[in-house]
Amino acid sequence: MKYLSTRDRALRVSSAEAVKLGLSRDGGLLTPETIPQIDGEFLRSLTGVSYQERAAKVMALYLTDYSEEELRTFASNAYGPDKFDTPAVAPLRKVDETTHCLELWHGPTSAFKDMALQMLPQLLSAALGKTGEDKTVCILVATSGDTGKAAMEGFADVPQTKIMVFYPKDGVSKVQETQMVTQEGANVGVCAVVGNFDDAQAGVKRIFSDPKLRETLAERGYLLSSANSINWGRILPQVVYYISAYCDLLRDGEIAMGSRVNFCVPTGNFGDILAAYYAGRMGLPVGKLICASNKNDVLTEFLRTGVYNKNRLFHNTMSPSMDILVSSNLERLLFDLSGENDAEVRGYMEALNTSGKYEVSETVKGALQEAFWGGFCDEAGTTAAIARYYKEHGYLIDTHTAVAAGVLEQYRAETGDTAPTVFVSTASPYKFCDHVLQAIGETPKGDGVELLEQLNAVSGVAIPKRLAALKGKTRRFDLTAEKADMDNVVLDFLK
Ligand SMILES: *Cc1c(COP(=O)(O)O)cnc(C)c1O
Repeated sequence: MKYLSTRDRALRVSSAEAVKLGLSRDGGLLTPETIPQIDGEFLRSLTGVSYQERAAKVMALYLTDYSEEELRTFASNAYGPDKFDTPAVAPLRKVDETTHCLELWHGPTSAFKDMALQMLPQLLSAALGKTGEDKTVCILVATSGDTGKAAMEGFADVPQTKIMVFYPKDGVSKVQETQMVTQEGANVGVCAVVGNFDDAQAGVKRIFSDPKLRETLAERGYLLSSANSINWGRILPQVVYYISAYCDLLRDGEIAMGSRVNFCVPTGNFGDILAAYYAGRMGLPVGKLICASNKNDVLTEFLRTGVYNKNRLFHNTMSPSMDILVSSNLERLLFDLSGENDAEVRGYMEALNTSGKYEVSETVKGALQEAFWGGFCDEAGTTAAIARYYKEHGYLIDTHTAVAAGVLEQYRAETGDTAPTVFVSTASPYKFCDHVLQAIGETPKGDGVELLEQLNAVSGVAIPKRLAALKGKTRRFDLTAEKADMDNVVLDFLK
């Protein structure tokens, strides 16, 4: 199967190249030329097998340059017991008769990014061999908090790779920052950027599209690539867990084959919910996709009006991994909804570039509203959802998950839809102890990792082992740069 640029269908690359490059040369996103179809029989065949096996089977449909055997090995490396603290990998927790929570934070960094970033380095490493690449790949990452750590954890000491992470200086939680600046590995680098996530992301995109810089780096033996969700190798491992969740519901007798299930996803860069959309396009019986935003409600407005407008105030919230105004992966959705009309997508993206906004056609808007429902949850609503889940269900959820829980409630109140719904839990509550403690009526005593034990004492929920181990770790990185200086940071890192 080939992968096409969303901005130029004539630009086609193999699956291994798509993973290696991360982004198409013309700035478009590499997207599969066709969407493989699955049926009831396929789903039934997955209900009795492990998560690892499900991952290999689903990914093989798209990654035709890789053998299923290879993918099976990658999946067992990625999701094994030394990495994930539950054999289910991505377990479903039943909240009530029609509500289930898909916990995606049982991996090494306690955020859902591990689901893809334990897999991507292996796909990429193999892609270098498959495409005969002799350069060292340098992964550049802009992170709103969780991607950076998960990417470093995945790429640390992987041969023929280096990784440089940029995070917004005051835009991540204390635990997130500690996780990043204590990262081990000889091939990793971390830098704080003065600005917000969009500044960091724009800086990385600028570096990618600077031909002169790329040439300099090529002379030094380096090739740039991306571990952000613009890389197809990030999206695909995420398609797996939606299919897996459906199989679990079938296995446990919660639904009958063919029943439609809604998914409610806390959204930032639109990668996670896009994966759910692809699962639906493959034939998984998906009802509504509920797109949950925090106070940065650009997507809610877009889904309701068809106008995407990033010209607005940026809010730093207690769910920092969703503090994003430019959701890159929407581009793949627009490509699909417009009938793969590359000229139309190019027009939207040019408008976004020049005026910070675009309005989609009536056709695209109709298709958008057919598949998605958008809502947002402000800070008070987020706190209230954490408190309510803790009190009513004895379930401790993090600030991002709480946004989804809050928006799901709005959706049900507004539409009366009673279909079974899975909402996605994207981080362990221990990554955001201060806000979680406050939400359940406690006064945080201290800061950052000091709060892990307090939350544990109050809630009785076990602290993820690797977060507990942060306490004794030494800081390895202390670099801060202005956004205009990010290219120099990269040149310095790749001397
Ligand atoms: C990255 C992240 C999100 C947003 O996911 P997208 O794929 O960017 O939409 C939500 N919650 C947490 C905890 C995250 O780390």
